[in-house]
This record gives sequence, C-alpha cells and structure tokens, in this order.
Amino acid sequence: MRLVLLGPPGAGKGTQAERLVARYNIVPLSTGDLLRVAVAVGSALGLKVKDVMARGELVPDDLVVALIAERIDAPEAKNGFILDGFPRTVKQAEALDRLLSERRLKLDAVVELKVDEHMLIERVEKRIAETRAKGHAVRADDDPAVLKQRVANYRKQTAPLSDYYRRKGVLLVIDGMQPVDKVEADIEQALQARVPAGG
Ligand code: AMP
Repeated sequence: MRLVLLGPPGAGKGTQAERLVARYNIVPLSTGDLLRVAVAVGSALGLKVKDVMARGELVPDDLVVALIAERIDAPEAKNGFILDGFPRTVKQAEALDRLLSERRLKLDAVVELKVDEHMLIERVEKRIAETRAKGHAVRADDDPAVLKQRVANYRKQTAPLSDYYRRKGVLLVIDGMQPVDKVEADIEQALQARVPAGG
C-alpha cells in the first residue's frame, strides 16, 4: 500500500499515519520528522534547514525530494509507505510522480483530512500541552505565530494538490473534524472501497 496523507498542520496526519502504518505494515515517511532528526543531530542537512523550519517556511524542494527518494529505496519500504508532509507543492508532487514511475510504482490513494482552520490553533495548543506533559521538547514551529505562517503556506502551496490528485482519480477526502477513531474508520472504509483486499 502506497499512500499520501494531505492536510493542514494540526489536522491529525501524524496520528492517522501511525494507525495506517500498524494496519498495513508499511513505513511512515514524514519529511517533517526526518528533517527534525537532521536538525537534532546537527547534520549538514539539519544545519541547512534549521532556520527555515523555525520560521515555518518550506525547505527547498531538492532537499526533501532527495530525502524521500532515499527512503523509498530502502528495503523497509518494500511493502509500502505512507507519506506525511510530502508532497507539499505541485512541483514536489510532480517530482514524486517521476520518482515512482522510474521505479514502476504507483500511489494507491491520497487521503486528504479536511478540517476547519479555526480548529487548528486549538489542536496545536493541545499538542504543545501534551508534549510538555510527557516531558518532551516542544517543536520550535509549534507556536501560534508560526502556525499562522504554516497554515498560510498550506493554503497557498499545498491545497492545490487536492485538485492535482483529484484529476488523477486517487483523492479520498475525509472529514478530519470527527473523533480520531471515526476518522480512522472512515479512512479505512474509503480505502477498502478503492483498494479491495488483495488488490
Ligand atoms: P511538518 O512536520 O510536516 O509540519 O513539517 C515541519 C516543517 O518541516 C515545515 O514547516 C517545513 O519547514 C519543513 N518541511 C516538512 N516537509 C516539507 C516538504 N515536503 N517541503 C518543504 N518543507 C518541508
């Protein structure tokens, strides 16, 4: 199973990605997570992207495309993957199409989580509180001012991907405002309808 998860920051992509990974035995590929690890370990890539990420802006396409290509080629991804946070722009979606067709692979579905923008700040504030409660460090970009920037980026650069994937006939739109379990069940149902078991 090869999936893309689309949705603005705070839409619940991370939570749903975890559940899909467990259900389909596929690997999670989150460019945000991979980049945060690079920043944390202070790699050359991390040093390049640290400030851009802290401002809530997008890092250059070539860097994320290379990161994803490497992960798709890893043996762990043989059974499939779920992309979370990539592609973020139509350019990246086109790069992904090229990457996949070179490997004779295709996406089974693109799952878009729809949420009202006014809920996003609330959700990210909740994520900050939960992270603190666990004693973990809060993400540098989980901050209300930066979040506004990230949502604006999403609207401008990422939202056009819905049309891109709708035209390709792979888009599944799910109401992300529902309780987590219901969102999961709706995704499952939509995937079953699209990708029958064994198919
Ligand atoms: P995320 O965890 O997906 O919200 O990503 C956190 C930050 O990482 C974003 O605000 C960007 O700075 C950077 N980032 C993650 N994925 C991408 C991507 N596909 N293209 C460009 N920048 C990205």
